Amino acid sequence: MVFKCQEDSFLKEFTSKVLKCEETKESIVDYGKITNFEGYQIVLENTILFPAGGGQPHDIGWLDNIEVLQVLHKGDEALHFTKEPLAIGTTVTQKIQWERRFDHMQQHSGQHLLSAILEKEYTLPTTSWWLGAEESYVEVDASSVSENVIRNVENRCNDLIRDAVPVNVKFCKANDPDLNEAHTRGLPKDCMDTIRIICIGDIDENMCCGTHVTNLR
Ligand SMILES: [Zn+2]
Repeated sequence: MVFKCQEDSFLKEFTSKVLKCEETKESIVDYGKITNFEGYQIVLENTILFPAGGGQPHDIGWLDNIEVLQVLHKGDEALHFTKEPLAIGTTVTQKIQWERRFDHMQQHSGQHLLSAILEKEYTLPTTSWWLGAEESYVEVDASSVSENVIRNVENRCNDLIRDAVPVNVKFCKANDPDLNEAHTRGLPKDCMDTIRIICIGDIDENMCCGTHVTNLR
């Protein structure tokens, strides 16, 4: 399922119906910090609250005035963790803690840019990345990277940021001829229906479930 937050990552308010509300004792994991939790997991018809995935942390926000402390992607559903239950069938207004989300969007698009330049221009493929509240990093497949390369990559990225290169989301079907082999390699079966590709100008195309800015600036 493509969630509303993946169709329009700038929606800050949205109404949707409650489909499920179940008790849960699953922990809250926020920027790697684990907290015990007892409350409810709520499934809605659709959501603007991003469920953690692809390296991007979950959103926090509200369903009416009930706080959402975590959103997780399980199967085809987004589970919204709350302290209070909501009645099935009610329509609620979703709101996002926008400052946190926008920071994630900027950092996630930044990671795509940095990883693309490192890989395409310096043969330094990204092996993992981390998006934190205070710091984010990209791990590359090399034991060391020279100061010179780091400076050149930084300058190159900053030039592209100054140029406000557009960032677009493209939706493809798995059998789309537009989709080359590299895009679908290693894709889990449940992702094979609709594929989301984040395009940074003509610099990069990358499969991703995350939310992104609309241009690099
Ligand atoms: Zn991504």
